[in-house]
Amino acid sequence: MDGSVGPMRVLVTGGSGLVGRAIERVVKEGEGREGEKWIFLSSKEANLVSAEETRAAFEKHRPTHVIHLAAMVGGLYRNMRQNLDFWRNNVHINDNVLNMSHEFGVVKVVSCLSTCVFPDKTTYPIDETMMHNGAPHDSNYGYAYAKRMIDVHNRALFQQYGRKYTAVIPTNMFGAHDNFNIEDGHVMPGLIHKTYLAKKEGKPLQVWGSGRALRQFIYSLDLARLFVWVLREYDEVEPIILSVGEEDELTVKDAVDAVVEGFGFKGEVIYDTSKSDGQIKKTANNAKLRKYLPDFKFTPFKQAVKETCDWFAANYDSARK
Ligand code: NAP
Ligand code: GDP
Repeated sequence: MDGSVGPMRVLVTGGSGLVGRAIERVVKEGEGREGEKWIFLSSKEANLVSAEETRAAFEKHRPTHVIHLAAMVGGLYRNMRQNLDFWRNNVHINDNVLNMSHEFGVVKVVSCLSTCVFPDKTTYPIDETMMHNGAPHDSNYGYAYAKRMIDVHNRALFQQYGRKYTAVIPTNMFGAHDNFNIEDGHVMPGLIHKTYLAKKEGKPLQVWGSGRALRQFIYSLDLARLFVWVLREYDEVEPIILSVGEEDELTVKDAVDAVVEGFGFKGEVIYDTSKSDGQIKKTANNAKLRKYLPDFKFTPFKQAVKETCDWFAANYDSARK
């Protein structure tokens, strides 16, 4: 099915992050197969910005398959501060990983884009064909263009060498092992950390922005199961959006309410409208995913949020923050 000889050796770059740890868990809990080897790489073993260190990691592990998650990652406010760093680090990481995969004869690579890649001025819902139709939102263009170039690299590798490397486009994700740093992280881990502290200290919860922005959230464990499916079954070079449906799009305020409920927080909630809302919406269409997997069940949002709040409270001392 995957075209390789013998059992797969899957190298997961970014194996120590939110998605990497979720994939590790679902592989352990039933998605893995007899004889397969899964290698979860962290930046401590190889800094993938460096071509030499990337080559050494491929020489050591000799993967047949790669799930490429490693990236400089951050929420809206970190992106606004560091567009240059997001652009440069991610362009280098992606070029190194895709180039080494090709050189070492890797059969399949599944890289990870983001709905930030889509044009700011667009029609809705957004689908996979629209990625290069216009400039991305101003807030995170460094990250967004670096991610778009993965698609360019994949298409050119297919055209010149017939390589079937692909990419997925997940929406805003959350779960255990996220980066809960308040200044740098995404909205869910930021809200979870802030609500945890507000409850502990008996202070109001400060939400950034108006709460009106719309997002489709995906639980890291659901995304992990979809990643394994893409690796095994999805045979297109064109990327695929991994998202809940348009009908499950929520406001940031809905997310706040779920976190408040998850912790049983009874204090005041303040919306700081002096802070940016970022892109007001980026509604993605998951029809392609639904065509392949009509019966896939996403974890209900409130349950996923509650599990993440519980995980954060239980692992407060060791969590990334
Ligand atoms: P994360 O938790 O911040 O993890 C990032 C991973 O990348 C970590 O394992 C980190 O290793 C590794 N990494 C960072 N810089 C590296 C470098 N120079 N060399 C080697 N490894 C490096 O991120 P995530 O949320 O799991 O993101 C996974 C993928 O999903 C990324 O490609 C991201 O762009 C994409 N994505 C994320 C979201 C979201 O909402 N979080 C949404 C859409 C797409 P160490 O921890 O060892 O440093
Ligand atoms: P994005 O989805 O790429 O824009 O990135 P984020 O995950 O950082 O989500 C940003 C949205 O959440 C914006 O509308 C923010 O105004 C809102 N938001 C509310 N509170 C927070 C917070 O504490 N941290 C972050 N990162 N965003 C917040």
